[in-house]
Amino acid sequence: MTIRFPQIYQQKAPTFSFEFFPPKTDAAQQRLRDNVTELKALGPTYVTCTYGAGGSTRQQTGQIVAELARELQVPAAAHLTCVGNSREQLIEVLEGFAAQGIANIVALRGDAPAADASSGGVATFEPHPEGLRYANELVTLIRERFGDTFGIAVAGYPEGHIETPSRLTDLDNLKRKVDAGADMVMTQLFFDNRDFYDFVERCELAGITVPIVAGIMPIVTRAGIMKMAGLCGARLPSKLLKKLQAAGDDDEKVARVGIDWATRQCHDLLEHHVRGIHFYTLNRSNATIEIYRRLGATDSQTLADIAGDG
Ligand SMILES: Cc1cc2nc3c(=O)[nH]c(=O)nc-3n(C[C@H](O)[C@H](O)[C@H](O)COP(=O)(O)OP(=O)(O)OC[C@H]3O[C@@H](n4cnc5c(N)ncnc54)[C@H](O)[C@@H]3O)c2cc1C
Repeated sequence: MTIRFPQIYQQKAPTFSFEFFPPKTDAAQQRLRDNVTELKALGPTYVTCTYGAGGSTRQQTGQIVAELARELQVPAAAHLTCVGNSREQLIEVLEGFAAQGIANIVALRGDAPAADASSGGVATFEPHPEGLRYANELVTLIRERFGDTFGIAVAGYPEGHIETPSRLTDLDNLKRKVDAGADMVMTQLFFDNRDFYDFVERCELAGITVPIVAGIMPIVTRAGIMKMAGLCGARLPSKLLKKLQAAGDDDEKVARVGIDWATRQCHDLLEHHVRGIHFYTLNRSNATIEIYRRLGATDSQTLADIAGDG
C-alpha cells in the first residue's frame, strides 16, 4: 500500500503503529510471522521495521517491512540510518525501498554498534567518509533526490537525545529535520507522560507543527528494559522502579507491571488527544494485544474505532 505519512495524518483520529526489527534466525523469523498474524486483528494504521545497528540489515529491512505491510494490508515505513553508508549507497538503498513499494522512511542518523567498541572500533557515531553526519542531511538527501516519493518521519526525544548538551539545542536540531522536509516526528520511548506533553509544547513554541507520535515500549523483562533505558537514556520514574522492585525476579510479574504501566500511559495519552501511539513491539504480540484489550478493543472494535469515536 503506497500511502504516505501526510495522507495518513490528514485524518484526525489517532494512529496506532507497530515497530518490528529484522529477526536474526529462521526460528525468530517464524515467531515474528506467528506474532504478526495475531497482531493483524488489532488493525494497526501502519507498520515500521528498524534498520539494524551499524547499518547491518540493509536488505532485510525493506524485505521484512514490505512483507509485513502485505500481510497486515497497511502502509509501511522502513527505517534507514546513515551508519556505514556513503551518500551513493544511501541513494541505492532508497531506490531499493521505492522498488519494493515502500512509501515511507524513518530517517535517522543511527548509532555506532556497541559491538564495534569491544572489538576495537569506535563507540561514538562516526560518519562514513563520503556519508552524512546528521539525520537532517538524510532528510535533505531524500527530498532532493526523491521529491515526494516518500513520506518521512524523524526521531524526537522528549527527554533530550543522550548526546545532546542541552534540550534547547536538541530542539533546534529537531526543527532542522522538520524544515528539511520531515512529515512527522516519532518519539523515543518514555515512561513519564509529562515529559512527552512538555516536549510537544516546546515543539509548538519552536514552530514544529507536524504530527508528533508517542513511542511506547511495554516492559517485558527487567534486563531488557535496563539495557534499553541505558542505551537511550530513558528515565524510569520512581513509582515504576518501586513496582519493578516489588516484582523481583518473577518474569511474569515484571511483564504485568510493564503492561499496567504502558496501558496507563496509553489511556492518558488518548485522553490528551495524542496524534498517534507507536508501539515498540520487540517482535512480540502478547503485551500489545493485552494493552489493546485493557483499553477496550474487542474482536469487532479496534482501538482506532474507539479513539476515533471519542
Ligand atoms: C523512533 C525511533 C526509531 C529509531 N530507529 C532506529 C533504527 O532503525 N536503527 C538504529 O540504528 N537506530 C534507531 N534509532 C536510534 C537512533 O539512531 C539514535 O537515537 C541516534 O543516536 C540518533 O539518531 P537521530 O536520527 O535522532 O540523529 P540526529 O537527529 O542526527 O541527532 C543526533 C545528535 O546530533 C545532534 N544534532 C542533530 N543535527 C545536528 C546538526 N545539524 N548539528 C549539530 N548537532 C546536531 C542532535 O541534537 C543529537 O544529539 C531510533 C530512534 C527513534 C527515536
